[in-house]
Amino acid sequence: MPGETPVRYPKPKPDFGVVAEATRRSMVGNRGKNTSLETDFRRALREQGLLGYRIHARRIPGKPDVSWAGRKVAVFLHGCFWHGCPHCGRYRLPKHNREYWQAKIETNRDRHARVESELTALGFRVLVFWECQIKADLAACVGHVREALVQSSA
Ligand SMILES: [Zn+2]
Repeated sequence: MPGETPVRYPKPKPDFGVVAEATRRSMVGNRGKNTSLETDFRRALREQGLLGYRIHARRIPGKPDVSWAGRKVAVFLHGCFWHGCPHCGRYRLPKHNREYWQAKIETNRDRHARVESELTALGFRVLVFWECQIKADLAACVGHVREALVQSSA
């Protein structure tokens, strides 16, 4: 929706309360923009010759992590913790401040669902890759992007 203020999250300090080390690392690693997840993904795109994308394009709803506006392809890279990954065990709420994290994650999910339907209504192909999928098989993820781009230019 134009004029809608994007939801912003205060950047948490690296003090996440009492959380398991693995959880803490996954939180810190996925905070903010240009995480290594994103840079790895974009490097793989370039290596596959998938160029001409924009990063966090402001004119596209949800500011997709990677997008091709002309070809109407939007890619979101979801950190498993922050978006409440349904596929892996990284989405485990810390015991401490549980409700706080739960609320944050739900906000992320709701926001993404809104953005996705908005983009679909605009004729975008929306691809969502989870951190765990990217880590498990980056090449397959990039393959899906390629397919979407090929389909859109057909
Ligand atoms: Zn996951």
